Amino acid sequence: MTLKQTLPGVYIDGLWQHGPQLLGVINPSTEQALALVAGGDGKTLNAAAAAAQAAFAGWSRSSGAQRADVLRAIARGVEARRERLIELQSSNSGKPLGESAIDVDDVIATFDYYAGLAAAAGQDSALALPSDEFVARVRREPCGVVGLIVPWNFPMVTTAWKLAPALAAGCCVVLKPSEVTPLAELELAAIIAEAGLPNGVFNLVCGTGLAVGAPLAGDPRIAKVSFTGSNAVGVQVMQRAAETVKGVSLELGGKSALLVLASADLELAVELACAGGFFNAGQMCSATSRVLIADALYEDFVALLTARVAAIRVGDPFVAEQDMGPLVNAAQYRRVLGHIDSGLNAGARLLCGGARVADQPCGYFVQPTVFTEVPLDSALWREEIFGPVLCLKRVASEAEALALANDSEYGLVASVVGQDLEAAERVANALQAGLVWINAPQVIFPQTAWGGYKQSSIGRELGPWGLSAFQEIKHVLRAL
Ligand code: NAD
Repeated sequence: MTLKQTLPGVYIDGLWQHGPQLLGVINPSTEQALALVAGGDGKTLNAAAAAAQAAFAGWSRSSGAQRADVLRAIARGVEARRERLIELQSSNSGKPLGESAIDVDDVIATFDYYAGLAAAAGQDSALALPSDEFVARVRREPCGVVGLIVPWNFPMVTTAWKLAPALAAGCCVVLKPSEVTPLAELELAAIIAEAGLPNGVFNLVCGTGLAVGAPLAGDPRIAKVSFTGSNAVGVQVMQRAAETVKGVSLELGGKSALLVLASADLELAVELACAGGFFNAGQMCSATSRVLIADALYEDFVALLTARVAAIRVGDPFVAEQDMGPLVNAAQYRRVLGHIDSGLNAGARLLCGGARVADQPCGYFVQPTVFTEVPLDSALWREEIFGPVLCLKRVASEAEALALANDSEYGLVASVVGQDLEAAERVANALQAGLVWINAPQVIFPQTAWGGYKQSSIGRELGPWGLSAFQEIKHVLRAL
């Protein structure tokens, strides 16, 4: 795909603009430039927040039906440009075409789901009181102008998970996509621009974290920031938001576990371990990068996993049937190879992978990598790697597996594999994680909550929880 031009990276009050900050966008499979995006700075952000604030009075009073119409129009617009969005996602992010298609379909499902919730979002509900002298009702009102800051690993998807409920709630929005992967986000924004929203309700400012993200988090006109990204930046966003006591929703990192119980179907366990470790080249906050295997199955699991990993096809994401593409950029490539080196230095045993893919002349391709005998105090075991790296550990009992799984500062998700369903459900209940899959791939429905325990999250996205994250609750109490 060639797209060597300068794209407008700012959309404010219904107008596309070229901002003052040029951002280079690359194709991680070829390392070639794809486009320049003319993003914004603090002044641009100021104008976006002002436009959103001016539009709030009107949009916050719009009917649920009006909001639902816009959200459905966005879903239909995404459907109509599905192939284009898939192509942009794969060229800018390096995802195999099949994975990009999953992303686009998730975006459609999310906008359709919140269109359904929008209709009821503005309705008051009665509240029973233990008194005949008063009546009360509860209103859920939009919390104001919101700032949405999203990362590069699931562009469009993390945006949809915030934007659809924010618009359904009646909020006005300033969105800041990742400077690494703006291309599909810009196409999505073009679809939103044509969906019938009043000017100023949806605004977008591309740019770096320091030039645009930090002032967005600090702006006093922004009532709430919803952020997805790294823990280090999440802390900074919280600190900036604290200056004006604004609400924050944070979706941060993970170091999740996949537990292979003694009753597990071996084929399924290996399939889920590969998917949990290597989907999106492991660049997932929900990667199940620590695999805890029951003693009785360990040797067979290792043999089958090693064979499966050897068969994973890594390369050009536009080639049909490709299993894995490159990492997103040079910084991420260096970071992941650095983690692999640090694991080796810490004494972990490399089972397979551990280097760049030899037959790729360029691009940020790293082999799917598996370690065993990983020291439990090493960075490899404890820190989020965000690359295609699995750590295996043999466990003697269910209790040991649970203790190891929960021994993390994170608690985003977990997977359990076992045919003894009573044991699998018991283990799921004891895991400190916001979402647990049993014998299932990492399927995510817009109806289910997304977010985790401990340092993985503050709040939940998706489902009705995702909507209430953008609402204030008001009680109106009247004497009879
Ligand atoms: P990042 O934290 O570097 O950047 C995320 C976003 O924040 C980007 O748009 C960036 O420009 C912006 N930003 C950077 N500095 C900022 C600042 N000082 N103030 C405000 N905004 C700033 O994260 P990333 O590298 O883009 O993404 C990878 C991280 O995201 C991983 O740690 C991953 O676990 C996490 N993640 C979490 C989830 C989840 O749902 N829990 C989902 C996807 C990614």
